[in-house]
Amino acid sequence: MSRFNVAKFGGTSVANFEAMSRCAAIVENSPNTKLIVSSACSGVTNLLVELAGGVQNAERREQLLAQLADIHHSVLDQLADPVDTEKQIQALLASVASAAEAASYQSSKKLTDHLVATGELMSTYLLTQVVKERGNDAVRFDIRDIMRTDDNFGKAEAQLDEISALAQEKLVPLCKKHIVVTQGFIGSDAEGNTTTFGRGGSDYSASLIAEAVQASGLEIWTDVPGIYTTDPRIAPKATPISEISFSEASEMANFGAKILHPSTLVPALRHDIPVFVGSSKQPEKGGTWIRHQVQSKPLFRALALRRNQTMVTLRSANMFHAYGFLAKVFEILAKHKISVDLITTSEISVSLTLDQTDTAGGAPELPCEAKQELEQLCKVEVEHNLCLVALIGNKISEKKGYASQVFSAVEDFNLKMICYGASPHNMCFLVHESESTDAIEKLHLELFEQ
Ligand code: ASP
Ligand code: MG
Repeated sequence: MSRFNVAKFGGTSVANFEAMSRCAAIVENSPNTKLIVSSACSGVTNLLVELAGGVQNAERREQLLAQLADIHHSVLDQLADPVDTEKQIQALLASVASAAEAASYQSSKKLTDHLVATGELMSTYLLTQVVKERGNDAVRFDIRDIMRTDDNFGKAEAQLDEISALAQEKLVPLCKKHIVVTQGFIGSDAEGNTTTFGRGGSDYSASLIAEAVQASGLEIWTDVPGIYTTDPRIAPKATPISEISFSEASEMANFGAKILHPSTLVPALRHDIPVFVGSSKQPEKGGTWIRHQVQSKPLFRALALRRNQTMVTLRSANMFHAYGFLAKVFEILAKHKISVDLITTSEISVSLTLDQTDTAGGAPELPCEAKQELEQLCKVEVEHNLCLVALIGNKISEKKGYASQVFSAVEDFNLKMICYGASPHNMCFLVHESESTDAIEKLHLELFEQ
């Protein structure tokens, strides 16, 4: 079977006609790329999310609808032959208007998914036409025909076996004849209701699709030319990484490097599909390849920063030489469905950080009832305004002498919860929010710029 590449374009990459044309050029320059997965045009999902939340004020609703219409009409205006595409866009805009009105009476997760999915449905009509008008044989495919999920609206779970069977039956044959343009982010449950994978979910969609069609590679085109040693806005001398392993890249995504949604790599990893990350604005700059096997495995690969950390410290003299204390603590945490991220222990205290649970991006909270239950066992302290600094690399814990290098770089900072040794791919610690970017800058200077 001849295998092909899947190219995913994010919202900024399909923001307008010029951006869409750049995407088309990228695909034209890579004859092995047959399948395009697109996000909604930049800003569109935000507008739809607001409408889906239920906007009572009719004037505000009209305003949002007008903004949506403008974004899509600006592309239509530049098409040579807009007639059919315009009909589709008009129909979708009309459906948004009525769903937004319904949401203003009563919003629901199901209605929200129906509404926010329109962004991708519209962008793919436009993108298909842009690709076609440049002389390519392109067709649009509704991914809901194969992307089977459960009915957990807003955070649907993919049904892998069905997706793969449907993709082989309906999508792969199409990709052999045409360039196919389809939607990221959305799917459909067994009853045909539209579902979504959650904000930013189109990278994950693309990876699922790449897995289902057994792609030879997955290209993620975004607005940065690949993965950097750290965020260049913090350390201007950060450099792009040309090749990085799956394990290192997953650590980076987990530790808050915004470039990839943390679950993105899972399907690609399962099938050993190499993933490329590059900028659709500057494709000539190249990008980063994420692979199973990489040529170089430097000790220090990158630095990531995750903000909004909540640290919980539990202290009790009863812990001294006792057993079962941690078991009780974790029983309480499990009962309240609290997922723990980092953990360090000493004889009479335990510190842990809480995993991010809400998609809104705020700091995770220790629920009151959980706190009260823990207080029956020990003293509980909760600290906010902390950031997690993660150093990612290879065999970090096995090398001699590296620790002094790292710690002398950050000797002026007050470090909390230093975690290393458990994973050969990272070491991390917490610092106060106000010191976090300085700490990254200093570490980058000492470990990456020498
Ligand atoms: N359009 C969706 C969002 O903005 C999905 C994505 O772009 O990944 O969240
Ligand atoms: Mg995105």
